[in-house]
Amino acid sequence: MSRIDRRSVLKAGGALAATALTGCSTTNPASTKSSAGSLAVAGPDWAGFSRGLDGTLYRPGDTGYAASHQLFNPRFDSVNPAGVVRAASVNDVREAIVFARNNKLVCVPRSGGHSYVGASTIANGLVIDVTALRGITYANNAVQIGAGAKLYDVHVALDRYGRSLPTGTCPTVGVAGLALGGGMGIHTRTYGLTSDRILSMQVVTADGGVRTAGPTQNADLYWALRGGGGGNLGIVTSFRLATIGAGKLGFFRLSWPESKAAAVLQGWQRFAKEAPYTAWANLHVTAESNGTLSIHAVGVSTTGSAAAAAAQLESLAGTKATGRTVTVKTHMEAVRYLGGGSTSPRTGFLAGSDVLRGPLDATTGTALIGVVKAAARAKVAGSAILDPLGGQAAKEPPGGSAWPWRSALGVVQWYAGLPTPPSTAALRAAQNFVSSGHRAIAKTSAGGYVNYVEAGRSVNSYYGANLGRLHAVKQKYDPANFFHTSYTLN
Ligand SMILES: Cc1cc2nc3c(=O)[nH]c(=O)nc-3n(C[C@H](O)[C@H](O)[C@H](O)COP(=O)(O)OP(=O)(O)OC[C@H]3O[C@@H](n4cnc5c(N)ncnc54)[C@H](O)[C@@H]3O)c2cc1C
Repeated sequence: MSRIDRRSVLKAGGALAATALTGCSTTNPASTKSSAGSLAVAGPDWAGFSRGLDGTLYRPGDTGYAASHQLFNPRFDSVNPAGVVRAASVNDVREAIVFARNNKLVCVPRSGGHSYVGASTIANGLVIDVTALRGITYANNAVQIGAGAKLYDVHVALDRYGRSLPTGTCPTVGVAGLALGGGMGIHTRTYGLTSDRILSMQVVTADGGVRTAGPTQNADLYWALRGGGGGNLGIVTSFRLATIGAGKLGFFRLSWPESKAAAVLQGWQRFAKEAPYTAWANLHVTAESNGTLSIHAVGVSTTGSAAAAAAQLESLAGTKATGRTVTVKTHMEAVRYLGGGSTSPRTGFLAGSDVLRGPLDATTGTALIGVVKAAARAKVAGSAILDPLGGQAAKEPPGGSAWPWRSALGVVQWYAGLPTPPSTAALRAAQNFVSSGHRAIAKTSAGGYVNYVEAGRSVNSYYGANLGRLHAVKQKYDPANFFHTSYTLN
């Protein structure tokens, strides 16, 4: 019997035999009359749902349930979904959406599981995990990627053809979450964001329809999914992206003493504006456990010659680095260097971001440094990590996709590492660090980067001038606001 035949038979059987049902606390379960005439409450038919899947359903108490809803950040291990569907086919995704809708379950998609706020898990709701949909096929400079693929696997697959993609650095981040929210990394200035390379997507929308979103099909959805953030508009099951060459890359790492922090910050901002498109460098201002600050930049030249880019950054900062390495790396060496290997251990953290509408003036720059210095004194493992935009990312037309920050200078990420499990005091100190960061540079902040989404901040602050158009697309494809959590468009 074919899979489709099997599914239809099971579905028909399930509809007849939907009796022994288990409940789910967030649902408004349908009320049915029992044979005695009293009002009985029927919960979702989890067993029937499970039988109709090509993949696996995990329910509380099942072997594998605990692992099925673990995200990268252990902070969210205590969030217990009513069910996790490990989808094995696009049809499973469709069936899961229909099941969630029929049973009034809140549902969230999950790919790499790196959401900063645990948005890919949901207490008492349904997680639709697409990690098994991870096939990667390359032809004619384009790559078809299943939405469950992780960045390292994408790079390994493309490297065989001498090709690559602009992505972020963490090897275990999912291509789906990264690309839907933008996707910044070492190639941003030369080739744009990950989302800028998307040619088309397959997406299952709230009505259970399987659609193609591309320049000529559902073009409004294509616009919105490129930067509008994961979890808002549907569940993407695959992406088609235009690849780039996987040539050798020149790297530099420069470090300075704390006393040079202000000068280096000003120099880095000029570098972000003035360096050629082929040069990229991010800046790390880090609170060390001994109460001091460390300042370093990691830079790349996509032409392979990093020494000139390093010298330009030093010259703009007006100060020579005290630590300096310059190397050339192959594509895969670079991927492993930036990602710290081929995989990444689960890590506790709390973070947020500010998009820099322009350079920080000297006073605001000093305030930024002061926030990290205060973290060092308070023994908070805090960093301000500044990523440049500009170059090709700025060349895309401002309304060309939902990603709103084309004219920005860069993004500051406020990142605080946390122990597992974090104490209440550690969490409070981390939150205080992130809030102090926001306050310190508020006058230069245009909003936040949706891939660094944070709790307690309106999701609307991630979309700038594109918010109205995004709402219109949401209204068209998800009029009942089916994809709705505290971390979706509101
Ligand atoms: C260690 C680390 C390093 C990072 N480095 C970078 C970096 O260098 N550059 C950068 O730009 N970002 C970076 N990020 C941020 C990262 O891009 C986001 O956290 C991203 O959303 C993660 O995607 P994911 O698929 O792994 O996560 P998930 O938690 O699975 O998903 C993130 C969001 O997308 C939704 N979603 C997941 N799959 C789908 C789907 N198939 N269809 C629709 N919605 C979906 C989820 O519901 C959730 O809301 C990093 C994050 C971490 C934790």
